[in-house]
Amino acid sequence: MRMLFAPLLFILALGADAAHAWEPRAEKVVDNVYAIVGPLGQRSAENDGLNANFGFVVTPHGVVLIDSGASRLGAQKLEAAIRKITQQPVRWVVNTGSQDHRWLGNAYFASKGAEVVALARTAATQAEYGAQHMEGLKRFLGKRLDGTQPLPAPKAVEAGTLELGGETLELAYTDAHFPGDAWVWLPKHGVMFSGDLVYVDRLLGVLPWSSVRSGQRAFHALAALKPARIVPGHGRVCDLAQAQRETGDYYDFLVAQVGAAAKEMEPMGATLDRYADLPEFRHLKNYGDLHRANMNRAFIEFESQ
Ligand SMILES: [Zn+2]
Repeated sequence: MRMLFAPLLFILALGADAAHAWEPRAEKVVDNVYAIVGPLGQRSAENDGLNANFGFVVTPHGVVLIDSGASRLGAQKLEAAIRKITQQPVRWVVNTGSQDHRWLGNAYFASKGAEVVALARTAATQAEYGAQHMEGLKRFLGKRLDGTQPLPAPKAVEAGTLELGGETLELAYTDAHFPGDAWVWLPKHGVMFSGDLVYVDRLLGVLPWSSVRSGQRAFHALAALKPARIVPGHGRVCDLAQAQRETGDYYDFLVAQVGAAAKEMEPMGATLDRYADLPEFRHLKNYGDLHRANMNRAFIEFESQ
């Protein structure tokens, strides 16, 4: 029995891997700026936790990578996707956040000589959440997480302008999804890497440590920059109008309706029931799973202020 089944299971396992493995692919946004758009679903062994967006800028002095993936193997997949566009090495990694897929590939790129940069509070939150994110990822990635070392960005900078390889990157805090989350704005190209501030195609998630108030404020600041293209945290590369409809308007709703009800001390259950069905957002993926929990957390944030 054992001799018969073991090789069969082995072959089936290999087949499943090969058939479903998700390989990242770089797409040009504009000029020398590229995006890698990850799948909208959950982390898995097949996608190596790359269920988010990444990006890079090719310069004559090397590649600037924005966010490094969720694991050592995920980082290698990102590197392979970059390699199809340029032979330049990744010389800098800039992290927009502290959620697993934003930075757990840092150690891999650092081991190959890249300098890893983030805003100070982004790096601090990475250090704070690192162990918890590794635990969580293990459930989804299993053995494919082996060899991954959490490395909070060693070069922590204050909000401001980075000049890397002749490119200007402006980092600013958004503090929306995780405390210390940031965006990377490329003024010369009119491209915004929003990190987990903007979600399109799927509903954004409000977590217990997220801030709806900060998200709304940051989105208004993003809109004022009038980016030509936005590489959102999740979902396809988009323009400002789509980001406004699918993220900006939702933050405005959470603040103006749910937040206002909380401040008026209206009952939470009745408030959530009243806004349970919102036709302008219900086409977004994950709406059914996230919308009520998002309102719940927004309510709590405003109730306590
Ligand atoms: Zn994310």
